[in-house]
Amino acid sequence: MIKQRSEPLELSMLKSLNARSVMNATDSAKFHSLDKGYRGEIMFDEYMKEVSNENNLILNDLLLEYKSTIFQIDSLFQFSNTLHLFEVKNFEGDFLIDEGKWYSIGIGRKEIKNPLLQLKRTESLLRQLLQELGYPFPIEAHLVFINPNFQLYQAPADQPIIFPSQLSRFREKLKSRSAVLKASHRKLANQLLSLHMEDNPYSRMPEYQYGELEKGIICPTCHTFYPTFKKTYLLCHECGGIEGYKTAIIRSIKELRLLFPEVKVTTNLIYDWCKIIKDKKTIRKTLSEHFNKIGHGKSSYYVNLE
Ligand SMILES: [Zn+2]
Repeated sequence: MIKQRSEPLELSMLKSLNARSVMNATDSAKFHSLDKGYRGEIMFDEYMKEVSNENNLILNDLLLEYKSTIFQIDSLFQFSNTLHLFEVKNFEGDFLIDEGKWYSIGIGRKEIKNPLLQLKRTESLLRQLLQELGYPFPIEAHLVFINPNFQLYQAPADQPIIFPSQLSRFREKLKSRSAVLKASHRKLANQLLSLHMEDNPYSRMPEYQYGELEKGIICPTCHTFYPTFKKTYLLCHECGGIEGYKTAIIRSIKELRLLFPEVKVTTNLIYDWCKIIKDKKTIRKTLSEHFNKIGHGKSSYYVNLE
């Protein structure tokens, strides 16, 4: 495996904003859809991890650009004779294809974006990019529905769709590929990695300000606020999770810096941000153990340890 998947920054930020503020309906819907999509991708990784061996290279979550068009690849499996491109969908419930259009048919009929078109677009952009880079490898594109509670009515059989019930057979097929990779595959993988963009420049975040956000420490499991701090640990009343105070404080600092990259980390600020740690000494101790202190007295602040 060449590239692991990590939670997209946009999702981490929206997760934090969702817990700390009331987002409007559009942002909230975007957050839930990103969150669901990401959970689907994690399910896919988990399911496919046994495919990974010395005869393939797996790159997850690539954000690439070809001729000013940005496209995202959920997973790319490189085998010696073919590249497998995966678009993973965590759709749940009943869906229908009618005259080429896709609908969700849970409560009433609602047209949705055609995921096959999205797949075709990604495949075409990837093919052009590979050609430009000088790797005209054949590509097989797949639309994977990972959620077992997904049903698609009137699905044509000739489409590159993998349903949950077909995934296991597909995985066995990939596992049996034994042709050895060439140096050019590794070269291509490295090139794609170097072209990968960390941040989508077109993602749009809701507006937010420090003063408007609810302060406190969020439980990493269920994303509700810890109610109180007891000596050395935090206990979540919602999910029963327990966390040592230092990890919790450091996590909260990371979250703060994700939302406000320009902010200067001071004891007072972290005291305010974490809210339930009522003792500044505890904050100061954690900061001095895990960060470098710059300056003295009231104007001092903390930066990452080198
Ligand atoms: Zn919890």
